[in-house]
Amino acid sequence: MKFDPLWKQVPQGVLNFLLRQRVVRSVLLKKAQDRLYENFVLKNEDDRPRLVQEARCKMLGNLLHTVNAALSDGRISAGVFNSITRNFIGGILLGQEDRSADFFEKHGVWPPAFLTISPTKRCNLFCTGCYASSSSGSAETLKYDVLNRIIREKKELWGSRFNVISGGEPLLYNDGGKTLFDVLEENNDCYFMMYTNSTLIDKAAAARMARLGNLTPAISVEGFEKETDQRRGKGVFRKIMRAMDNLREAGVPFGVSVTATRHNVDTIMSDEFTDFYFMQKGAVYGWVFQYMPIGRSYTVDLMITPEQRLALFKNEQRMIKDFKVFLVDFWNGGPYSLGCISAGRPGGYFYIDWNGNIAPCAFMPYYLSNVHDLYKNGHTLNDVLFSDYFASIRKWQNDYGYAQPAQKVNNFIVPCIIRDHFPATLDIVTKFGAKPLDENAHQALEDTDYHKRMTEYGQSVKEITEPLWLKEFMGQGKSGK
Ligand code: SF4
Repeated sequence: MKFDPLWKQVPQGVLNFLLRQRVVRSVLLKKAQDRLYENFVLKNEDDRPRLVQEARCKMLGNLLHTVNAALSDGRISAGVFNSITRNFIGGILLGQEDRSADFFEKHGVWPPAFLTISPTKRCNLFCTGCYASSSSGSAETLKYDVLNRIIREKKELWGSRFNVISGGEPLLYNDGGKTLFDVLEENNDCYFMMYTNSTLIDKAAAARMARLGNLTPAISVEGFEKETDQRRGKGVFRKIMRAMDNLREAGVPFGVSVTATRHNVDTIMSDEFTDFYFMQKGAVYGWVFQYMPIGRSYTVDLMITPEQRLALFKNEQRMIKDFKVFLVDFWNGGPYSLGCISAGRPGGYFYIDWNGNIAPCAFMPYYLSNVHDLYKNGHTLNDVLFSDYFASIRKWQNDYGYAQPAQKVNNFIVPCIIRDHFPATLDIVTKFGAKPLDENAHQALEDTDYHKRMTEYGQSVKEITEPLWLKEFMGQGKSGK
């Protein structure tokens, strides 16, 4: 995507001043939306399905709209504002430093956009079905210098300034007295999103985040008080409410992250849910994670049913349209991300855990490389990126739709190589001898009943969503549902 070269001439200070002006922002917002439409829909250089491009354009428009609203309401502190303009608008959109173009020049493909790193397994909660099986007893933690090296290296190699920190609870990260705040401070030319239970975000922590400006917490909720306390522990919901208030008052943009299970999916599909978290509490974005049967006491029975998944998809579409929210489902959101983004796909990511083990995705817990071995042997993250294991997953993504011409793209509503196409994962993991990240992943690999049920689940969701995919995104046939 190309940007107006004139913008590159605008010094950072002037840009900050201009963006603070409501009128200037609304002009820029309109210009940005027009530009998105022109690039995504009219030019559509990569030949994506036109209706997919329209949907992506709309979703990004919602994000711009929400950020603009948060700026207008004073929900964004000066520190956050400067960090966003420096790291996104200055560093990325204005192309002040374009390492990703250098990468493309050298390798013929675009690099991943980010990494998800879980620097510690430690957590102060003990939630049912935690994908990371975290607990207070967990001691596994990445060394501070290794964590920093990863963040620096991805910026140098890929021009990637965006980092997702997951857990355990990131605010419990501590290596020799160094915490996540030290990471943020040392990498103030990068931006971070952290998945957090938020119970440790008091007024002091929120003020520190506002000053640093380069972190947005995505706070885990399960619905309202009943559902949240049921899964996360009594009293957690009230702590979350306080954390959200602290963040809003300090001017730190935050989002919500919700795990959809068979039991809470109706609640999170309700208008009350969206109205409460987005309109009343002030969340800027939302992630929906459908419960994935890996991790602590995994069970296929907690997954939303194929029928619920279709209903959830339709409801998410309605929220995006009617409430204009930036709400992305990690699975149903396949049309927005052009399918699975794991294994370092261009614009995608891969995952590094507290032991330094490197998996294609946080939800595909099978690895071959370890970051400590990598660095000991003088290698870089690129060696993992271009490994045969990751390349074979990207080949699957390419064949499924990412590298296909518009008319040959498969159903992006069911994009997931592990959740929706389990046999493909089993083939690749077995072929390369990828190792499980933990005992639960090991059990899942040996559990033939699990394989059977995951395979059947994938077939059912494909079947049930196909008419809608063909009609709404490929512009053909009739939706049977
Ligand atoms: S493997 Fe599944 S969960 Fe992971 S990025 Fe791909 S689609 Fe998403």
